Amino acid sequence: MKKSMTLSYEVGKGLYLNITNKCPCNCTFCIRNNGDGAYGSDPLWLERQPSAGDIIEDLRSRKLDEYDEIVFCGYGEPTCELEILKETARYIRSVTNTPIRINTNGLSDLINKRSTAEEFEGIADTISISLNASDAEAYDKVTRPSFKGVNCFEEMLGFAGRVKNYVPNVMLTVVDIIGEEEIKKSQEIADKAGIRLRVREYIDQ
Ligand code: SF4
Repeated sequence: MKKSMTLSYEVGKGLYLNITNKCPCNCTFCIRNNGDGAYGSDPLWLERQPSAGDIIEDLRSRKLDEYDEIVFCGYGEPTCELEILKETARYIRSVTNTPIRINTNGLSDLINKRSTAEEFEGIADTISISLNASDAEAYDKVTRPSFKGVNCFEEMLGFAGRVKNYVPNVMLTVVDIIGEEEIKKSQEIADKAGIRLRVREYIDQ
């Protein structure tokens, strides 16, 4: 496994931020299983956990106004480092109006052991939450979370419902490899929650 301190990388007209490698899940389709980087980036496995200061320093060398979007994504779950995420997002907000998106597994409340939805107010334009499956059993099979004895699927949907009160655009996502029937059922779940569903293309690098 190659390591680096790649804290940001460009994908098309977007700037993606790689703030942590921590994640309580081990998704079967996770891009981390396929290589050391994403979209031709340098390795996204980090030599150490960066501080918000490290990430902000990296961002100072970028022209943040020139991107269509700045996305917290990378090789890990950004809400595992919620304070770093918030500080970085507040910095971005202070220097540019470029929209901010957070890609998350939606398990922030479990990860941080408190209700966190309100903490996203003012720091993100969009939150994209991985729905992954249409029921709890299928969800656990795909995401393989480390939380035991907890209905992670319900936790994720609960977070999605609450964070809608604080972030303008909230969407649920599935990867197209789950098949048409699962996508249809996922659409029903999203409709019931009143949240838009986005079907993402599976990237096998
Ligand atoms: S939640 Fe994201 S980072 Fe974590 S294992 Fe799943 S796809 Fe990978």
